[in-house]
Amino acid sequence: MAGKREYGLIVIGAGMTGLSTALAWAETHDLDREPVLVLEKEPAPGGCVTTFAREGYRFDTVQIIPDISDLLKFYRIPLDLVPYGHCLARLFLADPVKKDVRVYPVLQGRENFRDYLVGLFPEEEEGLNRFFDYGQKLLDELEHLKTEPTPLQGLAILIKCPGIIRQSGRTYRQYLDSFRFRNPDLMEILDLFSSFSGLSGDRCAALLTACAAMTTLQGSYRPRSGFISFPHSLRKALETRGGEILTGLCVDRILHKEGRVQGVRCGEEIFRASRVVCTADTHVMVEEMLGLGPVTRERVLGPVKGWFKKYARVKSAPSSFTVHLGLDEKLDLKGMGFDCGYNVLTTGRAAHEKAFDLWEKGERLTGEEEFHMAVISPSALIGGKQTLIIHVTPAAAEDWEELRAQDYDAYRARKKEAARYYIDKVEEYMIPGLKEHIRLTDISTPATYARYLGTKGGANSDMLNVPSNFGMYRLPTRTPVEGLFLPKFSNGIWPSLMAGLQVVDMMTGGAVMEGRSRYVHRENQLSFFFSMRRKPSAQVTNAGASRV
Ligand SMILES: Cc1cc2nc3c(=O)[nH]c(=O)nc-3n(C[C@H](O)[C@H](O)[C@H](O)COP(=O)(O)OP(=O)(O)OC[C@H]3O[C@@H](n4cnc5c(N)ncnc54)[C@H](O)[C@@H]3O)c2cc1C
Repeated sequence: MAGKREYGLIVIGAGMTGLSTALAWAETHDLDREPVLVLEKEPAPGGCVTTFAREGYRFDTVQIIPDISDLLKFYRIPLDLVPYGHCLARLFLADPVKKDVRVYPVLQGRENFRDYLVGLFPEEEEGLNRFFDYGQKLLDELEHLKTEPTPLQGLAILIKCPGIIRQSGRTYRQYLDSFRFRNPDLMEILDLFSSFSGLSGDRCAALLTACAAMTTLQGSYRPRSGFISFPHSLRKALETRGGEILTGLCVDRILHKEGRVQGVRCGEEIFRASRVVCTADTHVMVEEMLGLGPVTRERVLGPVKGWFKKYARVKSAPSSFTVHLGLDEKLDLKGMGFDCGYNVLTTGRAAHEKAFDLWEKGERLTGEEEFHMAVISPSALIGGKQTLIIHVTPAAAEDWEELRAQDYDAYRARKKEAARYYIDKVEEYMIPGLKEHIRLTDISTPATYARYLGTKGGANSDMLNVPSNFGMYRLPTRTPVEGLFLPKFSNGIWPSLMAGLQVVDMMTGGAVMEGRSRYVHRENQLSFFFSMRRKPSAQVTNAGASRV
């Protein structure tokens, strides 16, 4: 196999976090002296972010990104993004008793959306104004956050970010309640943003959802040639700069000695480095790759306190059940408004919350009276053969993996049966006569997600977006094993890209964003940094390399 065996940095996983990390390293280091290697177990990079084809139908696994133009400038890659039009999303609020549905659009542009809501709910004007102003204030405060604040910086954060501090332990439901809205439909509309975070409003971290709402409203996109084009562009940019990606190689061990990381092992092959960034599942990393079960931790690392205490509380996100449909051309999905980013079909937020209660018991919500799902048509915006995706989160792991391994025919029959329930609901409340237009059905179960993502039970991510996993409570990126980093900002493409920049910023003492937790592009930022700090930066990284 080609390639050097001793690296400045090894990155495990070529998803958005891993690619962003490797590119940030490439942007800030001399790769002849400190090369970077990304190891990916799948044949192609992208992780959660990919596009697959079946009989000429193309399906994206992810659906929406906010404005990431700052980051694209940093990576120096072009990406042809198509903006969603006037309507960002729609809420289909179903009434199973009356068998009807009320449809509310979420309009692009904060001012547009606020004006629209005030027009619909004039008695809520004051609360709505406060909701949008406060959301903007939270976004502004983010500029002052530091990834690893010194005590003095911590004090400054307390003064400059009162909103963030106040909301950091809250759920999105508590956040919404603080605006004292009274109209139940308005609460349902605003709750739609929690679906973006893959959680019900009762559980989702307020800060995450409130900021995601404000940023997606300001502009949301999908790549014209499918989401796969994004990791492809990042890979190309990395390789052009001299970085190395090896695919089809699964890391089974992170090597460490006397509390320091030394490299990784993939079967028979060993790759050495004094810095390793792991973007795989946190639990898999600790228990399998490091081999640090509860008993061995202390023996290997000495008295271990804070990090492992937090680790013990890390909650993984649920898995999903996704139905991909290829349709004939007789349906006019664009004419039906499916060229927006996201449609949520629900009987209300209580149903979404109940789905999570059931998920905790290992069950799925499948009633006639209560349901909750997202429905998206990528082709309606970017063209191609007509596609429709029904995406259901949460989906419990159940016994999907065992069934697939033991009895593939029974597995196929069961997933087809489960998919029928969701297709029926979409036909009943959104697209009359849908079934007669279906030409292809491809179904992903938690077993599919487990296989591709390498997570336990097919978890969509190992950071459930609850307050205790997020913001100041999240598991620190710097692990107790020196030189080993685990960047987990929160789930989502933008946060994953940001996590990659943050971790390189930490390793270089601020080369990427001067210790801030959020990247803001300034022309010539990097060249300015290096003209000021070239020598100290080189010393820091050399010291790391010599330990191997
Ligand atoms: C179904 C779904 C829909 C989503 N929709 C959206 C959306 O519309 N908008 C949005 O912003 N976000 C969305 N997200 C979230 C977003 O896609 C993810 O948060 C983000 O892509 C995660 O990137 P990552 O690199 O941290 O992790 P991953 O994408 O999981 O990448 C980790 C990589 O590590 C590799 N790996 C794991 N173990 C090993 C090993 N032992 N050795 C080598 N490689 C390994 C995996 O194969 C994978 O490629 C969605 C997620 C899912 C699952």
